[in-house]
Amino acid sequence: MQKESLQQANGNSIDERLLLQTGYVEKVNSVGKGEIIEISLYLPLVNMLDWTEVPYIKFSVGGALFRKYTPAAWDAKAQTCTLFIDAAHDGPGTTWARRLRERDLVQYIKVGSSRQSPHPTGRIVGLGDVTSIGQLLALFQMTNPGTRFSGVLLITDREQSEYCNKNLSPYLHPVLCEDTDQITPVISWINAQKYSIPDTCFYITGNDFVVIQLRKSLIAMGFATEQIKVKGFWS
Ligand SMILES: Cc1cc2nc3c(=O)[nH]c(=O)nc-3n(C[C@H](O)[C@H](O)[C@H](O)COP(=O)(O)OP(=O)(O)OC[C@H]3O[C@@H](n4cnc5c(N)ncnc54)[C@H](O)[C@@H]3O)c2cc1C
Repeated sequence: MQKESLQQANGNSIDERLLLQTGYVEKVNSVGKGEIIEISLYLPLVNMLDWTEVPYIKFSVGGALFRKYTPAAWDAKAQTCTLFIDAAHDGPGTTWARRLRERDLVQYIKVGSSRQSPHPTGRIVGLGDVTSIGQLLALFQMTNPGTRFSGVLLITDREQSEYCNKNLSPYLHPVLCEDTDQITPVISWINAQKYSIPDTCFYITGNDFVVIQLRKSLIAMGFATEQIKVKGFWS
């Protein structure tokens, strides 16, 4: 669909009554065995200049079902952004993401905030599983200068890890773990960085249980609770 006709479609009364807004898919890329789906979107109704905290978009994934995904690496002028969806399990969100193709319409009901924005001066460390690639890249985009940012991606698949290493940010470090709840390699990685305790802020997202375990480990290392922002994405 052409961008002009999409803009007309956005004004149409059915979508307005349902309060759904529309965008379209520019490109889809599957990583590894198709278990990370990278989706580039054109969202003409979203003002990305307003994003001062890492946002999420609540998409309609079929019928009355909605799932939240985090836009990464947006271009406010072009009104484009990219989603990274963990599709290594079955669920309505995953099924929706697997079916998306170039030029498809997507509908969303809300753009909200994860309430995470990088501290203005401290060292920023993002931690998360594969559902958090968008969150980590968004934090990186919001951190100025980007050299203050380190992202640790807890990942279980070697091929995906290599893809992330080569294609995402040089400040995003995939750490291979045997399972998503095996946090020891992540803790070892953090210990090895010797972060300054008073000057480092952590932003943790992903599986609820893992988020809690990581937070506990950081507190045990001496970081204060105010330095650790957490948001569970799935359980
Ligand atoms: C603010 C916010 C932002 C988010 N951003 C992203 C994002 O950018 N990318 C992303 O992939 N997800 C993100 N999520 C998670 C996403 O919204 C869905 O919860 C997730 O995709 C699961 O939806 P589903 O319909 O596929 O499975 P569900 O119907 O929710 O679950 C089906 C089954 O799969 C299990 N399951 C769910 N997720 C996973 C998983 N990742 N790995 C293994 N098993 C799982 C569940 O325990 C359940 O048994 C975000 C969540 C929040 C709250």
